[in-house]
Amino acid sequence: MSDSEKEDPVPSLEEQLKDMLRKANMTFMFPQQGPPASDEADAGAGPQPDRGDAALQAIREFSLKPRDVRDYLDRFVIGQGEAKKVLAVAICDHYNHVRRWMDNPDLRQDEYAKHNTILLGPTGVGKTYLIRCAARLIGVPFVKADATKFTETGYVGHDVEDLVRDLVKAANGNTELAQYGIIFVDEIDKIAAQSAPGSKDVSGRGVQINLLKLMEETDAGLFSQTDLIGQMQAIMDMQRGKGTKERTINTRHMLFIVSGAFDKLGDLVRHRVSSSPIGFTHGDQEKKEAAAFLRLAETKDFIEYGFEPEFIGRLPVRVVCDPLSVEDLERILLNSEGSVLEQYRWDFEGYGIDFTVNRAAVRRIAEKAHAEETGARGLMTVMEKMFRGHKFELPSTAIRSFEVDGDAVGDPAAALAALLKGKESAKRAMLDGEIDHFVAEFREQHGIALSIDRSARDLIVEMCLEQDRTVRAFCADHLRDMEYGLKLVARNTGQTTFRISRKFVKNPSAELSRRIAKSFKNEE
Ligand code: ADP
Repeated sequence: MSDSEKEDPVPSLEEQLKDMLRKANMTFMFPQQGPPASDEADAGAGPQPDRGDAALQAIREFSLKPRDVRDYLDRFVIGQGEAKKVLAVAICDHYNHVRRWMDNPDLRQDEYAKHNTILLGPTGVGKTYLIRCAARLIGVPFVKADATKFTETGYVGHDVEDLVRDLVKAANGNTELAQYGIIFVDEIDKIAAQSAPGSKDVSGRGVQINLLKLMEETDAGLFSQTDLIGQMQAIMDMQRGKGTKERTINTRHMLFIVSGAFDKLGDLVRHRVSSSPIGFTHGDQEKKEAAAFLRLAETKDFIEYGFEPEFIGRLPVRVVCDPLSVEDLERILLNSEGSVLEQYRWDFEGYGIDFTVNRAAVRRIAEKAHAEETGARGLMTVMEKMFRGHKFELPSTAIRSFEVDGDAVGDPAAALAALLKGKESAKRAMLDGEIDHFVAEFREQHGIALSIDRSARDLIVEMCLEQDRTVRAFCADHLRDMEYGLKLVARNTGQTTFRISRKFVKNPSAELSRRIAKSFKNEE
């Protein structure tokens, strides 16, 4: 076959798509592997679909005072008094400015310095939680991402502009509302360290510069180069004459909060301001000292730490969050709305189970959580271990309430065993009740009534206990042929009520075969 006879090769789907995009003057790269850029595009904190307009209206009418914001934060976040005040002021100033600008878009922008904020402090002490709560109060979308996920544009990885796109998602596609959202970038100290003098890795510097553009003002693309579907949708909208939907979003009115633990920054400041040696204090005292030195950090310290001067300069609000003491952790359990304890209560309520935690147990949980050194996250770890067995076992028992004391926190397995002991009869009664459910369901589904002998019921309960199964699971397996067998007998004999004896439960196949054979004989 000569060359001229060869058919023109059909372009691959990829080529066809690229061609369409070329014609529409758009570029396209195939998506790279990896999770979405922000771990928490927070629809919960942000507005619901049809609430977008209401949220915009609320921003237009923004009238909260810093004290209002602080009081709201107090309901959820324990401690962090200084951070709450500073943030409350920054947030009120920002949204007052936004409101005035919405009223009058000709308002001069140039001199207005945004209240972008840097939050310093150890992990799990409420940095994200403060901002998430504030976003919920104001009704603006919120996203959170780790700075370490980003690489300079063009490298494999995420582009900082993904943050803006995630904000649009959190605003349910309402780009107008997304303009006023809050972007939270955690682990910011990690990208500073990467570009510290002497380090060969320059990508941290690149990410800082990209973030800087975003924090200042830029028109970020609504579709990433890897978002093939988004780009196609835009083309299709254009072709269907849906007008030229905006393809960018301006970041001028977004509030940026960055945060990090900044472990080594405290030491750096200590060197500068005092000659006292490092390492004479331990535990809480040491952490308090570290926080005290962080409070003294100046722009020059951040630069020495590895930040670009322009970058740190665009973060005028700096605030330090304190480590949480055992008492703080206790207060979180006892007083904070939506605490992890409340979540567990809610989980157990799902099974109709109620529990109380006495004061000694609260103390013990707080102490154990403190030892984890992960701030309030330690509470979750301790509670998970504490309630793991209870959550599995108790819903299948007749136990509807229990108490957690200090000993139970120390040895949850022993506490559970003690709770279950003596409740054996209650568990049997519950399984017996499950048999009634099974009988009712069987009748409803198959039109066959089962009359189960007392001794047969006892055997089922015994076997369920032995195999650690529910009656439903046990019957689905052990009596799996019963439906077919009894239906056959019913068809042959017209019988609709069947007695189930202990013998039947012991050996269902043999009993069913016998009854089926007999039913055929009767038919003859
Ligand atoms: P980080 O400081 O690392 O950003 P988070 O704010 O994400 O930590 O805290 C993790 C979780 O721990 C929060 O979702 C919240 O439930 C709880 N938490 C942390 N700090 C506090 C606090 N000060 N008061 C109440 N709950 C807190």
